[in-house]
Amino acid sequence: MKSHYRVVVIGGGVVGASVLYHLAKFGWKDVCLIERSVLTAGSSWHAAGGFHALNADPNVAGLQAYTIDLLSEIEAESGQSVGMHMTGGMTLAGTQDRWDWLQSAYRVFQSIGIEDVRLITPEEAGELCPVMSTHGILGGMWADREGYIDTTGTVHAYAGAAKKNGAEVIEHNRVLELNQMADGWEVVTEKGTIRAEHVVNAAGLWAKQVGRMAGIELPVSPLAHHYLLTETIPEVAALDREMPLVVDLEGFTYMRQDQKGMLLGIYEVDHKHWMMDGAPWNYGIELLQEEPDRIEKELTLGFERYPVLQNAGVKNWVNGAFTFSPDGNPLVGPVPGKRGYWCACAVMAGFLQGGGVGKSLAEWMIHGEPEADVYGMDVARYGEFAANKQYIRETTGQFYTRRFVMTYPNEQLPAGRPLKMAPAHDAMTAAGARWGAGWDLELPLYFAPEGFEEKPTLRRSNAFPIVAEECRAVRRDVGLLDISGFSRFEVTGPDAEGWLDRMMASRLPGPGRARLAPMLGHDGRLKGDLTIFNWGDGTWWVMGSYYLRAWHMRWFRDHIEEGVNIRDLGEEMVGFSLAGPKARRVLEKTTDGDITALPFMGCGHFDVGLIRGRIGRLSVAGELGYEIHCRMGDHIALRRTLLEAGAGEGIREYGFNALLSLRLEKSFGIWSAEFTQGYTPGMTGMDRWIDWRKSDFVGRQAALAERDGNGPAQVLVTLEIDAADADASGFEPVWKEGRRVGFVTSGGYGHIVEKSLAMALVDPAHAAVGTELSVHVVGVERPARVIPASPYDPDGKAMRQ
Ligand SMILES: Cc1cc2nc3c(=O)[nH]c(=O)nc-3n(C[C@H](O)[C@H](O)[C@H](O)COP(=O)(O)OP(=O)(O)OC[C@H]3O[C@@H](n4cnc5c(N)ncnc54)[C@H](O)[C@@H]3O)c2cc1C
Repeated sequence: MKSHYRVVVIGGGVVGASVLYHLAKFGWKDVCLIERSVLTAGSSWHAAGGFHALNADPNVAGLQAYTIDLLSEIEAESGQSVGMHMTGGMTLAGTQDRWDWLQSAYRVFQSIGIEDVRLITPEEAGELCPVMSTHGILGGMWADREGYIDTTGTVHAYAGAAKKNGAEVIEHNRVLELNQMADGWEVVTEKGTIRAEHVVNAAGLWAKQVGRMAGIELPVSPLAHHYLLTETIPEVAALDREMPLVVDLEGFTYMRQDQKGMLLGIYEVDHKHWMMDGAPWNYGIELLQEEPDRIEKELTLGFERYPVLQNAGVKNWVNGAFTFSPDGNPLVGPVPGKRGYWCACAVMAGFLQGGGVGKSLAEWMIHGEPEADVYGMDVARYGEFAANKQYIRETTGQFYTRRFVMTYPNEQLPAGRPLKMAPAHDAMTAAGARWGAGWDLELPLYFAPEGFEEKPTLRRSNAFPIVAEECRAVRRDVGLLDISGFSRFEVTGPDAEGWLDRMMASRLPGPGRARLAPMLGHDGRLKGDLTIFNWGDGTWWVMGSYYLRAWHMRWFRDHIEEGVNIRDLGEEMVGFSLAGPKARRVLEKTTDGDITALPFMGCGHFDVGLIRGRIGRLSVAGELGYEIHCRMGDHIALRRTLLEAGAGEGIREYGFNALLSLRLEKSFGIWSAEFTQGYTPGMTGMDRWIDWRKSDFVGRQAALAERDGNGPAQVLVTLEIDAADADASGFEPVWKEGRRVGFVTSGGYGHIVEKSLAMALVDPAHAAVGTELSVHVVGVERPARVIPASPYDPDGKAMRQ
């Protein structure tokens, strides 16, 4: 062991070993892995070793596919067998909704270019797995590249390949303490103290404690998980080929062959947390006591699915713990505010995701950005609120329990809610508001009559007419929307303007004006679709998506300069917006200020009733609109003032479901759909906001290269789809005569234009208005065509009136 390394990776499970491997492979050789006990001594040794294709996040699914391909590479590089059994695998659907969902999921695979999957009938499923009963199965999805590996062999293969690339592995050495220094970290271990520029928390079951060593509370908890291994089963032994992996979603089980018997794993609905503060330091290579009573219901289903189990002897029970984040995806990346501290933990399926996690993290550390869009597993997708123990207990428990339970796109799950509520929340609830959650905050989705209950569905829901009426009210009269769910950052200081000018690719607005501003990463890809406000008094605001608050703040802090202060106003400021042709008339009644003089994209200070407000004249709905910001404590009064003033003007409160429909009618993109860190300005049309005359801004070189190169590989278009009872939602493939030419970024119904709409990234050759295409909507192919952007009010007259 040396006294200094560039990187110390803490933890010798599959994830730490993969991070080490990728760092060394990509060129950082001065790296070591420190393991408390022996490699695999956490969750990794007793995993079932299975790898599946499915993930709800297509970007994570892409990284899973990378991991599967990598396994044979590390085997070859290290000379250590990973015990590969590429048996193929299937996921079964046992209800009509699940079958519909699986068919949609299959299409998403096509969108992301994973071609070795296909849909299968129950009969085919039975042929592929003869010991399985197909009773109740409506269909399945088959993937060639599913199977299982030997877990210990795989960890040793990662570590062996890392060592061949120059990395060091140090076992039997616990990290005891981490101290942040000016130039990195002091890593105090049982075998001595090391200095490192970077540390990686890959401590698995102990990630919580290794976080606390640096003053970080990670939203992660271990939960217990069962599988059983049988003795030899004659019917299995008699098969002429190995059985495939089977995931029976309605049965809560997964199954694979184990020697001449079976391994049956169970996602217990009655979940159980284990050591929420992290495993004990003396926890060895051991298991938890099995609890067959707790899993009786799932076991019964499993035995019905595989009748041969009735007579099989159980050779071994495995009840072990592994870790979960609130949404079940890993926590990866640089921890905000802790320079040189990186996370690679909460990896629920380390053998499936570990390769992708290691690759992305190594790229991030070496190049400053990962190649893939890894927002879905970025540690900064959570804020401080998620460190609350009750929040972690509820959300991780909900994720585990629902691991195989279908979640509908219009379903609002209860865990960790309600947490933060804007002050007018209760008054809005009394007015019928139905809520969803964004980050920690409750957001109004729509306003329904008493007794209304929305039914979970993959198609248009029974809330459709309510949302339609809200859209009509906005376009006809005026709508009132709680906009507490936008982020607001205040930028001040003598160098605020110069700094913002370098951070944003657009021109900055003049005093009393607002402007849309793309923010780019150094690689020229998008980092934000922001709005900049110049309040004219030396104060600037940056507004964006509320749920990106911590993510954006990390980026700002990483680039902050002398003479600039940036503050997240998310706990101080809230607001309402008025949108619709009568918005001005309503606002005029509340203020002495000359609101008529406020131009489109203007901003200023106005008294609104008793409230000292800040107003920006813009609207995501594409109408004459005003966003009125106030102090948190003024929220109730602001709502009351605006509703009273609007009483004679047909004012109606509306929610974010209507806003999503209204913005689609204007072809206004939103983050996580049309705009992500995987896309470029050229692809998304964001380039029209870039000020090419500026000599310096983050990402300029790359943006110029895109502009002056061959043009983007895909461009954003608006589609009209001949849909019947459902609309596109995102990642559905777009086809031209049987060839995949793009994918949907988001979709929905335009209640005013009366069209099923979608935005999509398509090959430029198929982007011309009028091009006939087709799109899969909930698994059914529908004709679609490219239409001009902004099907509602294409000239933008409504916004500018
Ligand atoms: C019953 C069961 C079945 C599973 N089946 C599958 C499956 O089929 N497929 C799949 O992909 N996943 C499966 N998993 C999940 C899988 O085991 C985990 O995702 C994976 O092991 C996580 O790896 P890790 O490296 O993050 O953590 P761990 O394996 O827990 O490794 C962390 C390591 O860090 C070390 N460490 C901790 N603190 C310190 C310190 N202070 N100093 C030095 N070293 C330290 C520990 O000793 C440990 O070796 C299963 C899990 C269980 C429990």
